[in-house]
Amino acid sequence: MTKIRKICILGGGTAGWMTAAALSNKYKALDLEIELVESDQIGTIGVGEATLPHIRFFNQALGIDEREFMKATHATFKLGIEFCDWGKLGDHYVHPFGDYGIPLHGLDFHHLWLRLKARELVPRLDDYSFPVVAAEKGKFQLPGPDANQIGSNFGYAYQFDSSLYAKFLRAYCERRGVVRTEGKVTGAEREAQTGDIRHIILEDGRQIAADMFVDCSGFRGVLIEQTLETGYDDWSHWLPCNRAVAVPSEARGKLLPYTRATARTAGWQWRIPLQHRTGNGHVYWSEYISDDEATAQLMSTLEGPALADPKQLYFKTGRRRKFWNQNVVSIGLSGGFLEPLESTSIHLIQEGVTALIELFPDAEIDPLDRDEYNDRMGLNFDRVRDFLLLHYVATQRDDSDMWRYFQNMALPQSLQDKIEAWLTRGYILKYEFGVFLPPSWIAVMLGQNLHPKGYDPRADRYAEDNLQSELRSIQLQSMRAVEATPDQERFLNQYGANSEAARLVASSARTQ
Ligand SMILES: Cc1cc2nc3c(=O)[nH]c(=O)nc-3n(C[C@H](O)[C@H](O)[C@H](O)COP(=O)(O)OP(=O)(O)OC[C@H]3O[C@@H](n4cnc5c(N)ncnc54)[C@H](O)[C@@H]3O)c2cc1C
Repeated sequence: MTKIRKICILGGGTAGWMTAAALSNKYKALDLEIELVESDQIGTIGVGEATLPHIRFFNQALGIDEREFMKATHATFKLGIEFCDWGKLGDHYVHPFGDYGIPLHGLDFHHLWLRLKARELVPRLDDYSFPVVAAEKGKFQLPGPDANQIGSNFGYAYQFDSSLYAKFLRAYCERRGVVRTEGKVTGAEREAQTGDIRHIILEDGRQIAADMFVDCSGFRGVLIEQTLETGYDDWSHWLPCNRAVAVPSEARGKLLPYTRATARTAGWQWRIPLQHRTGNGHVYWSEYISDDEATAQLMSTLEGPALADPKQLYFKTGRRRKFWNQNVVSIGLSGGFLEPLESTSIHLIQEGVTALIELFPDAEIDPLDRDEYNDRMGLNFDRVRDFLLLHYVATQRDDSDMWRYFQNMALPQSLQDKIEAWLTRGYILKYEFGVFLPPSWIAVMLGQNLHPKGYDPRADRYAEDNLQSELRSIQLQSMRAVEATPDQERFLNQYGANSEAARLVASSARTQ
């Protein structure tokens, strides 16, 4: 049995450099050689600015200083996503990164709220969520040490410039001995007996051999698909949006600590505030809107002047049949893509890298490890798919062909079960793998007007007026915590996470 001595990563986008950073950090003491091949001529996809809270733990595991990272990537804090016009035109809600209220009488808070809500004795559930109210007011602070306090039981993520993140990680990797090779891969040579890839071939004839390859070549899937022909499960019938147009614009107004996703007639539009500019995009289903119309809609709703020409992107939602095939692991867009609503793609990269490290072969690749990797990543993708699909089907909208398409859709059984349990008894089915926890599901279901008929019957044990005053006191704690919280911009300055260059660009734009 030969030890895995060399890994070759193909691709230097977010996926490639995240993989290289994690492997170089984890295996620094071991004798593992890491070479990353990328092509400046091909470039990266250049989008992917909004993240989920788990990325903080990824950065922390690498020993990255939060302030340095935020300065280098012109990052802002993200408390959640605001959804506009999803349930009905005119609706809006925030999907927060954090719990609603605090657990009371051994019950999840929302059951007590549902009981009182049935008698119209309480305000919206959002008023018991620090991240919702802080986001609505443009405020931010780090969670305190006591996670049982209402102003501390939340998570946060970042909104950053993805090309700067890749650059930041590249410097990190090169300090740890990762070798970067510039060049375009045009082919690969496979072992006759095993079918594994022996070496990849560059345009100029150079060959790079390795024991394992990580395919981070984006939608092309150069090794996992072009070479190994692994196959792709097309999920367009569930998630039919297949194009996007993206454009950065000058920053305007208050620096908001959340991403906005506004539903449109044939897709939806994102707005992501960074320190120095705003990222915008329109994701759409080409069946029902032309590229020109989608671009015109996007450009007409920008809050400030565009900073570049709009960029067109094409994709097919779905996932690779095997994420790990032979001696190739696909991480990032080469493994699959489920459209950017809810900012899950970078998170799935993190899941892929984490699982690879956990199942990393010390000698020959064990097929059982490979199967476990594929099962685990498959579950992660399935569950993200269900959560994304929920946004399109939990709606009363029927004002366009796209919304009417979703009304008649046969849902995956797993999502059907989840909706059923919520509607009958206010219960969120939990599972081990899958990024979104119950508060996320509650946010979308309630935010899009799926109101449960029942709740946990144990909530009826308590006297109504006592319960009402307990909930009122929690709401007041939340309000006070938000009042004591600074605006995000002030916090960034106090904290020392503001990039001077970004500040200069943004401050002149924001005052216009
Ligand atoms: C419209 C849209 C919006 C998105 N928004 C978000 C978001 O808000 N949040 C989020 O988490 N994710 C988002 N994503 C996904 C996110 O952009 C990606 O997950 C992330 O950028 C990782 O991409 P990647 O590294 O896999 O691929 P890429 O960035 O495409 O990188 C591929 C790399 O492979 C190299 N390469 C390719 N072929 C070859 C070759 N033959 N030889 C040598 N090198 C090669 C390229 O040069 C490049 O370095 C979005 C995606 C889309 C399409």
